[in-house]
Amino acid sequence: MKLLEFSKRFKDEGSCEQYLREVREERGIICRECGSHEHYWDKYHKRWRCKECGSETTLTSGTVMQGSKLPLMYWFTAIHLLTSTKNSFSAKEMQRQLGHKRYQPIWEMMHKLRSVMGLRDSQYQLTKAVELDEAFFTTDNEEIQKAKDKGKPLKRGAGSQRQSKVLVMVESEATIPTKKSHKSRKAGHIRMVHMPDLLSETVKNEAIKAIDKESQIIMDDSKSHVKLDGEFKGTEKKVVKPEDAPRVLPWVHIAISNAKSMFLNLYHGTKDEYLQSYLDEFCYKFNRMYFGEHLFDRLMIASVTYTPAFKHRIYNKNITLSCG
Ligand SMILES: [Zn+2]
Repeated sequence: MKLLEFSKRFKDEGSCEQYLREVREERGIICRECGSHEHYWDKYHKRWRCKECGSETTLTSGTVMQGSKLPLMYWFTAIHLLTSTKNSFSAKEMQRQLGHKRYQPIWEMMHKLRSVMGLRDSQYQLTKAVELDEAFFTTDNEEIQKAKDKGKPLKRGAGSQRQSKVLVMVESEATIPTKKSHKSRKAGHIRMVHMPDLLSETVKNEAIKAIDKESQIIMDDSKSHVKLDGEFKGTEKKVVKPEDAPRVLPWVHIAISNAKSMFLNLYHGTKDEYLQSYLDEFCYKFNRMYFGEHLFDRLMIASVTYTPAFKHRIYNKNITLSCG
């Protein structure tokens, strides 16, 4: 949605309430007490009442906004900003834009929104041909902090405490290169999962959760320790020279490099425990890159459908210096 249209449609708390009410009524209100779908709107208290048992449902209950003390305008603005830019917004920048005094509630709001993005995407199983690879993202974590406190040098390479492990899976359909696009494969949905380790069993379990059984997996032969045979319709392990990687496994590489540059620009010093949250946002946008102006409404629907998995916690600025 364009900025002018947004400011016209949502000029005050009342217009946000009205929109939220419409979106929720379109999807149907279900009574938490008796399961009835029949409700009437109590305009004085701004909530629905169940026609069967009289229980009330507030505008924000059962949504991403549940329990939040922030005005709806803040949530709407955050959803607008997150869906109208190609990149993202750090919580610091969001706080500045909203002119809010405290960082904590804004930071928490952003994580809750990313959490519903992840929940929405977790409903989708990747199908057909799927590129699978692993990636390492630089993060900050307690292990690093401990090493620094003790004056110990950090390990280098893939085993470094700074390297968080991520499994990347992208639907990738073979296509004929055209004048417009020279790519030999077209990307579909993506899933990125922050992994505790990259042992064969752990990778297999995540792949089974994310990918449909009838799919064909394409992966780099150097990951030969990962055994997926028998779990999917087929597994193609390709010997990939570094210079051929963009051609053989194009989409995992494009996605990894785009995600890294987004994190580098916005969330440098990302704490390990929040990495999944940023990955969820990146994937949500990647999966909807052609939605254009409809993305606002889509994220709004996800926001009223899911309560976030992100639980209240205090932002620790001593460990994370500039975490978005
Ligand atoms: Zn009821």
